[in-house]
Amino acid sequence: MMRDYESKDGVMNIAGIPAPEIAAEFGTPVYVCDEARIRENYRNVHDAFSRYMDTRIHYACKANTNLAILRILEQEGSGIDAVSIGEVRTCLKAGFTPDRIMYTGTSVSDKELKEVAELGVMINIDSVSEMERLAEIAPGHPVSFRITPGVGSGHSDKVITGSKGSKFGIPLKEVVSTYARANDLGFDIRGIHAHIGSGGQSVEPFMDMMQVLINLVNEIEELGINLKFIDMGGGIGVPYKPQEEEMDLNELASELTDMIQMETDIQTLILEPGRYIVCDAVTLLTKVNDVKDSGVKKYVGVDAGFNTLIRPAFYDSYHYVAITNKFGKACTNRFDVVGPICESGDYLAHDRVLPEPEPGDIMAIYNAGAYGFSMSSNYNSRPLCAEVLVNDGKAELIREAETVEDLWRHQRIPERLM
Ligand SMILES: *Cc1c(COP(=O)(O)O)cnc(C)c1O
Repeated sequence: MMRDYESKDGVMNIAGIPAPEIAAEFGTPVYVCDEARIRENYRNVHDAFSRYMDTRIHYACKANTNLAILRILEQEGSGIDAVSIGEVRTCLKAGFTPDRIMYTGTSVSDKELKEVAELGVMINIDSVSEMERLAEIAPGHPVSFRITPGVGSGHSDKVITGSKGSKFGIPLKEVVSTYARANDLGFDIRGIHAHIGSGGQSVEPFMDMMQVLINLVNEIEELGINLKFIDMGGGIGVPYKPQEEEMDLNELASELTDMIQMETDIQTLILEPGRYIVCDAVTLLTKVNDVKDSGVKKYVGVDAGFNTLIRPAFYDSYHYVAITNKFGKACTNRFDVVGPICESGDYLAHDRVLPEPEPGDIMAIYNAGAYGFSMSSNYNSRPLCAEVLVNDGKAELIREAETVEDLWRHQRIPERLM
């Protein structure tokens, strides 16, 4: 089920703090991150799998790269799935040692390969060309390979990555020959990886992918190459709607680890959940600026738009919304919740029943922790918003809101235009 919040006297509380107080103290829009929930999510997924076999969680940090959030996961013992040199360096800055990070890039430049290799981070190779180039740049480097399993799953076509013909990974029919070539090139070959997509809610695609990986592991072993791990990627979905079921993690874990243990000698399973760990730990608070009846539709205009949270506009994603200072009050009408961006596609929610909204109300957008802040932008010259960490009745700033001056910082006007 979707995460629920505590209500005190008709006001939503997050980690023991009334949401409107957080909004008043830090301004809006603001992403509010609940530390206890991150730790709980991490432990849920880690415990579900490590009960059955040696498991390493590599948090897919593109979901949310705030340094404080990374610190929490570093303390929990997590590893990292990084997709760029920027993410690698951000995680090193947060205190992860290079051996806990795996780099999985796509369309990777020689420059980036060199930088990642020099930092001592394992590279999960995405193509034959990348392998040949890395052999020149960093001979003998520790590597694994991302394969295209021919199985895809996800909440939107835009985030399915594992289907046949995908831009990601080594095509199935080239996998075994690629491992043979990597062995000849002298790489330190550690494992095999696949990622089917993001936000899937059923166990089956994961099992189909695992069967593909297992068959490959056994073919690769016949070449005399012993793999240390299978990396099943991320993609564990979470419920975004009130009555939506969550994925049965125990079923997923027991089925997958059973397959691995019965059919291979692999000792270690790696998982790369991003969304699962941070999604429901973060709430976006946004203030109602304006209420409008167009004659056709009623609109609630808030101060967060697709510059702040792009998922509804980009993926058609559903985010549950509530008015924090009228929490649990009777609903009066249906509204579209829209932002301040000058595009008709700028919305956060369509057709929601809400208590009568008024300017100054503070709305909560649920499940905003994954691909929320990390995909936000400066479009319409709106500075990026603040992030706050809440724990046990205390709120701390973990990112200052940008200012308009920040938007000008890296621009130059040629003298002749002055
Ligand atoms: C994005 C990504 C993930 C995480 O996906 P989630 O749906 O957030 O769990 C994991 N692995 C790779 C390689 C990715 O690109």
